[in-house]
Amino acid sequence: MTSDTTAFDLSGRTALVTGSSRGIGRRLAEGLSAAGATVVVHGRSAVAASAAAEQIAGRTGNPVFAEAFDVTDEDGVDGGLSRIEARHGVPDILVNNAGMQLRAPITEFTAADWNTLVATNLTSAFLLSRRVAAGMIARGSGRIVNIGSVQSQLARPGIAPYSATKGGIVMLTKGLCADLAPHGITVNSLAPGYFATELTKALVDDAEFSAWVAGRTPAGRWGDVGDLVGPLVFLASEASAFVNGQILYVDGGMTAVV
Ligand code: NDP
Repeated sequence: MTSDTTAFDLSGRTALVTGSSRGIGRRLAEGLSAAGATVVVHGRSAVAASAAAEQIAGRTGNPVFAEAFDVTDEDGVDGGLSRIEARHGVPDILVNNAGMQLRAPITEFTAADWNTLVATNLTSAFLLSRRVAAGMIARGSGRIVNIGSVQSQLARPGIAPYSATKGGIVMLTKGLCADLAPHGITVNSLAPGYFATELTKALVDDAEFSAWVAGRTPAGRWGDVGDLVGPLVFLASEASAFVNGQILYVDGGMTAVV
């Protein structure tokens, strides 16, 4: 079933969205829930994840659960996935969304900063994907979506380490596709442009930069987190069964136009 709109229905599917206690991940979790999935909301803070889960369930009427672990901690990832699998089985959909940003002149970045960014934005996606892949292979199906960024294609001053992690997401996505496509699993990346969240608060508050973003974006505005939902539901559903190893930029045309 890949050619009609019922292919977008996620009823009966379980989804884990990392970093969904707020921001982009929270909106993506709500979108998957609205599409029918049983969703696990996640963050480091159990309190924040539970509050978000309760709010999403209230809006969509579908079951939403909460889980907390640090995505940079290998044992934490394994423990968290074990708890999720015990309750819900191996997730049908994994969205590797948890991430962070650090901005500084390159001469002021420390090796510790670099390691923190790589662990949070890139190694996390490897650890989570590796953990769910075993169960997805056994089942012969699965959807993995890695949240990338326009910064994997467009460099900006002050964020070279972040850009490197998002560049890494591109090739992690393609490499996982090579390994997992033969097992009925798709691995794609959803790459947002600029969206107003905690992560971009300093940019939103900078009137000049904020205007630059709108001007540099052919659509003439910042993204709204709701703009990401349809593309994610597509990549998480049967509708995208033959889409694999792709980077879907959701950026109002930013990466298409100089
Ligand atoms: P936010 O800062 O608003 O949210 C980040 C989320 O990730 C929170 O839920 C946070 O929860 C969680 N998180 C961060 N570090 C960890 C960790 N070590 N372990 C577990 N959870 C963690 O960011 P955004 O919503 O803006 O970003 C989400 C993703 O989108 C990121 O990958 C980011 O790079 C990407 N992106 C964002 C863009 C934007 O314009 N906002 C543009 C392009 C890409 P907690 O605090 O509880 O740990």
